[in-house]
Amino acid sequence: MSGICSKCGSALGPYDAALTRKLISRISRECLCLKCLAEFFHVSTDLLEERILFFRESGCTMF
Ligand SMILES: [Zn+2]
Repeated sequence: MSGICSKCGSALGPYDAALTRKLISRISRECLCLKCLAEFFHVSTDLLEERILFFRESGCTMF
């Protein structure tokens, strides 16, 4: 899964699109980079990276 961020246009990381769908499924057609996701939720990118690890470890098929 790859592409560019719908908001800032920067390249998406391998899990950014999956994380966007997981966290904000109602706007799943948009894909946000980690930075914009962090801004959207008013959290740090570190926290989102922890989330990705959590989803991976819990066996989520999207990651
Ligand atoms: Zn962005």
